Amino acid sequence: MKEDASGKIRVAETVLEKINNNTFDTKGCEHVKDIQVVAPSSQGCEECLKTGDRWVHLRVCLICGKTGCCDNSKNKHARAHYNETGHTMIVSYEPNEDWLWCYTHELGWLPK
Ligand SMILES: [Zn+2]
Ligand SMILES: [Zn+2]
Ligand SMILES: [Zn+2]
Repeated sequence: MKEDASGKIRVAETVLEKINNNTFDTKGCEHVKDIQVVAPSSQGCEECLKTGDRWVHLRVCLICGKTGCCDNSKNKHARAHYNETGHTMIVSYEPNEDWLWCYTHELGWLPK
């Protein structure tokens, strides 16, 4: 993943590039059109940081950039954010993971 001048990783930009060059075969999911060029809102789970909780893995909302914790984490803040806002596209914010997920379709994509 690339970093911009501010040091924030341009997660969404990287994902959009991969959708546009067909690295992710997202046919059948119209939600990819909603993806915005966002930067992660936080370097940790925003909600867990407020309460002092821990998380397992980080996810970034591709509609607004909200950073939340995964379904293996106690608080599942990334999914809670989807339930609250309907923002359905997320990407992993783990350096060793490269995939895209749509909550509405319950579908994920790995690079081809
Ligand atoms: Zn979808
Ligand atoms: Zn959390
Ligand atoms: Zn969002």
